[in-house]
Amino acid sequence: MSQTDYDLIVIGAGPAGLTAALYAGRARLSVLVLEKAAPGGQILVSDWIENYPGFVEGISGADLMTNVLEQARRFGMETRSAEVASLDLGDTVKRVHLSDGALSAKSVIIATGASPRKLGVPGENTFWGQGVSTCATCDAPFYRDSLVAAVGGGDTAVQESLFLTRFAKKVYLIHRRDQLRAARILQERAFENERLEIIWDSVLTEIKGGASGVTGVAVKNVKTGDLTDLTVHGCFVWVGTVPNTGFVPAVIDLDAAGFITVNSRMETSVPGVYAAGDVRNTPLRQVATAVGDGAIAASEAIHYIENLK
Ligand code: NAP
Repeated sequence: MSQTDYDLIVIGAGPAGLTAALYAGRARLSVLVLEKAAPGGQILVSDWIENYPGFVEGISGADLMTNVLEQARRFGMETRSAEVASLDLGDTVKRVHLSDGALSAKSVIIATGASPRKLGVPGENTFWGQGVSTCATCDAPFYRDSLVAAVGGGDTAVQESLFLTRFAKKVYLIHRRDQLRAARILQERAFENERLEIIWDSVLTEIKGGASGVTGVAVKNVKTGDLTDLTVHGCFVWVGTVPNTGFVPAVIDLDAAGFITVNSRMETSVPGVYAAGDVRNTPLRQVATAVGDGAIAASEAIHYIENLK
């Protein structure tokens, strides 16, 4: 059989990727995890996770992922900070191309997650990082006693807006419908929070500002057509995610929204290549589901590699 640099290369060091590495390490495979940002994934910026089992009072995203990283390293996982440019997926050797060369493995697990979706309104790019943000944990302290806008109605928008209210004087949560998509418990907290005002049936049409950053947003009521200007000093965008699949070759099937299509064994359309976590077609994107995906993907990769011998 062909020699490869590693048995398994996992792309992405979020909950799915690190769990896959932990399982593969315990099966005594040689495992490399590639991550372009800090190991831990999107959940690193989640202030508090209270729906991951085993932590009665909850746990911060950073603490949870530090533990998982250490745990996977105990079983031999190697990590490397690198961005994958492309994949070359042969029958027995999979090549992972980086900016400074290529690495080979018998099997690959893609666990690159998803990134926040942009709104595409005027001002969003101009003030990105200068008043427009997707990370409350990173940026909320800049808005102490200020007015801020947030957009979205899902778990992220409501949970992060609640976090913002610990700092901001007022958070306007702009949602395009008259009902939130977020979990009921988050909705209840939002309705009880006096610093959070939900602006229903409305879309943000422009982010305004000047040299000092964001000064306001324009909001349109989709039922009445009324336009309102809100004075705010920051704007947070939480309108869902887009999968991180820029390097994924066309031989890997994607669904209509661009997420990698897998079966219940996390198998993609290419034998020996698996996808796990937020990057795949899944009805639920949580740490708990990503962890389960990572475990299944690794278990299947272990069998696949065994059968190559
Ligand atoms: P999401 O569930 O897809 O919700 C996106 C929200 O943005 C929806 O309310 C949607 O409105 C709105 N939206 C989408 N496009 C828009 C646009 N162009 N303009 C205005 N509004 C727009 O995304 P998410 O909240 O980021 O959550 C992603 C996944 O992570 C979900 O599976 C979620 O359960 C999970 N998550 C879980 C937790 C938790 O368990 N505590 C925390 C964070 C995230 P509509 O409702 O009208 O479609």
